[in-house]
Amino acid sequence: MTEIRVFLRRTCYTPDDDLAFIGVPPVDTSALPRHARVSVSVAFPWDMDRARSLAAAWASLYRDVQVGGPGTLCPADEFVPGRFLRHGITISSRGCSRACPWCFHHKTDGNTREIPITQGRILEDANLLLCSERHVRSVIAMLSEQDSPEVGALDTRVVEPWHIEALHAAGVRRIRFAADYPGSHIHLRRVVPMVADFPGDREVFVLAGYHDRSERGLAEVMERIHLVEDLGFSPICLLYQGLHFHKYGPVWADLQEKYRPVEVPEKCHGCRGCLMGERLVAANGAALET
Ligand code: SF4
Repeated sequence: MTEIRVFLRRTCYTPDDDLAFIGVPPVDTSALPRHARVSVSVAFPWDMDRARSLAAAWASLYRDVQVGGPGTLCPADEFVPGRFLRHGITISSRGCSRACPWCFHHKTDGNTREIPITQGRILEDANLLLCSERHVRSVIAMLSEQDSPEVGALDTRVVEPWHIEALHAAGVRRIRFAADYPGSHIHLRRVVPMVADFPGDREVFVLAGYHDRSERGLAEVMERIHLVEDLGFSPICLLYQGLHFHKYGPVWADLQEKYRPVEVPEKCHGCRGCLMGERLVAANGAALET
């Protein structure tokens, strides 16, 4: 069955094939397939109303219209490259066996579950390192065949020297960790000797605005960012978003703007509120929504 995928906004991770659409159906419907299933992909919980409106608009053309994606908080199936994330991005596991209260991965997908490995140069697993060693090694072997591979946040509590050595040998050019809560730099400190010879970028996501949005909370985040810098990593500030969109004041927005990735991802439109997993909020910075 032909599948039309509908997205609420275009981001650097949105597929761009002929069956991927942004928003309502085009005025000229002549190029649309006669029969198709329509899948509206919603990345953020706070976008559900908009997703339902879009589904209604597409339902005027097609009978089978469904809303899915991380924003629905429903568990995900196996990963199909290019379906809801553009080709080049891949996911080899779902869920996370940790239960960090600010995170949705374990709430929607439960404990860490390995899924079949598919090709992609950017790995966006929630927590790869909770997978079996065999799986992790297979993923790294897949990455070694890619051009300039990258991996998302590696759990500093379980990362071991062989992980970093294998990623280095695989030609990974960027690794990321996280310092999501006060005191998390202690785990990051353990990683410092492991990455001493890693030649690529070393970035650390710093979650802000979850624990405390007062001035004291802001000071704590600033301190955490500086600790991350002192340890030799580049911090990327992530402003927390929960079930409902929170509009941060200028001081917090400036913080996110100041500590954004050095390199904006390929095809990034800088959409405000972009979230392919909450990690990408920072990657898309504070530019305009398209
Ligand atoms: S923040 Fe990371 S470690 Fe915590 S539940 Fe989410 S994916 Fe797992």
